[in-house]
Amino acid sequence: MATTVILGAGIIGTSTAYYLSKHQPGSSIHLVEPSPELFASASGFAGGFLAKDWFSPASAGLGALSFEEHRRLAEREDGRSRWGYAASTSVGLSPPTHKKRVDVWCRVGASRAEAASGAATAPAVAPEWLSGHGGAVEVISGEGTVAQVDPLQLSQFLLQKCIDAGVRLHHPAKAISIQTDVRNELASICIADTLSSSETDIPCTNVVIAAGAWSPQVFATLFPTSGFELPVSSLAGHSLVVKSPKWTKEHEGDGCHAVFMESKPGYSPEIFSRIGGHIYVAGLNSTTEPLPALATDSKSSISRPAIEKLRGTAREVLGADDVEVVREGLCFRPATDRGTPILSRIPDSCLGPAVNTRPAPEGGVYLATGHGPWGISMSLGTGKVMAEMIQGRELSADVSGLGLNV
Ligand SMILES: Cc1cc2nc3c(=O)[nH]c(=O)nc-3n(C[C@H](O)[C@H](O)[C@H](O)COP(=O)(O)OP(=O)(O)OC[C@H]3O[C@@H](n4cnc5c(N)ncnc54)[C@H](O)[C@@H]3O)c2cc1C
Repeated sequence: MATTVILGAGIIGTSTAYYLSKHQPGSSIHLVEPSPELFASASGFAGGFLAKDWFSPASAGLGALSFEEHRRLAEREDGRSRWGYAASTSVGLSPPTHKKRVDVWCRVGASRAEAASGAATAPAVAPEWLSGHGGAVEVISGEGTVAQVDPLQLSQFLLQKCIDAGVRLHHPAKAISIQTDVRNELASICIADTLSSSETDIPCTNVVIAAGAWSPQVFATLFPTSGFELPVSSLAGHSLVVKSPKWTKEHEGDGCHAVFMESKPGYSPEIFSRIGGHIYVAGLNSTTEPLPALATDSKSSISRPAIEKLRGTAREVLGADDVEVVREGLCFRPATDRGTPILSRIPDSCLGPAVNTRPAPEGGVYLATGHGPWGISMSLGTGKVMAEMIQGRELSADVSGLGLNV
């Protein structure tokens, strides 16, 4: 099997390495990550809400595959205690009157509840911790079609599995250039260790760009003569993790809930109860927040007014005295205008005039990003399908609608 270098150790890169390592020696897979702290990006700070069927037709197959992979992995590896995997119920406090496709979600302020499958007709049973809210409650998910994880713990679990399989993690490190052979074919990639400033050439014929919102920068660095810009932007989001005596271990038997509150201009509050006594609050998003050089730098850009707004929502729902803040966050979703991710080989014609790659499965430059609000939900399916694509195996989901439009 050809050596594969994956750029970006968020949940998408790590999941791709995990599934690749099931069919080739781990030592032929490299993960490269520049952030001094692992998972300081969206993958560590996301809500961790999973859905089976809240997706537009182009990503429906991938979404369903991924939901099933989450279920299977959690069953096999005790996901409940290791990364808080649990079935959930979605509740809308003011559900939209008509359903829209999820690809409109990336508008700032729109609610992902607009994409709910809406299959349920069950009477509304509000979670106990929602006692602060007196309004209408409606269940908006079908039974067994939504779930919850702690995305940081899941990412850490996948990475540990990769390392156990022999995958090489280069961290903190950055890919600075690619080299070609006498036929102008991709032959190696130069990785700079950012602590020691030493450089290493890794012979490889496969490269996967999975650097989230940083993917366009990674592509421009490695293929400077290309002239092609990856159609990926960033959508920033603030979040809070809080604790409350209303949601503790003893309440976990009632199951997790995903609560979608009424959308206000620029703010669609989402509140998730998670295993481990945590409640996650988010929904305040921005397309203008500049992407930091490193994921860890996000901390210094956390906006106090944004955090206060999220705290206000937590107090509204849980009661004024019942909120202990555990973690504040700001992170950046990789987004596409069409609202669906890109899982694709990048055509050689986009790499620049003097760069070719070997035909699959011996070589290629691939892109796996742009998952917007669904990167945790779609992570395992994406890793599985990307590994199949790279290794030239049959794909487990139809991703023909998730190609790169060039
Ligand atoms: C507030 C918020 C809540 C969310 N909630 C949910 C949810 O409930 N459910 C859900 O499914 N999704 C959710 N998401 C979306 C989800 O978090 C993302 O879609 C997903 O984490 C994207 O994963 P990724 O691996 O593509 O990107 P990232 O997690 O951003 O990882 C990319 C990695 O690439 C690295 N990188 C940067 N530059 C380079 C470089 N030059 N070379 C190599 N690597 C580089 C970064 O440091 C980072 O580690 C949420 C997102 C936000 C912001």
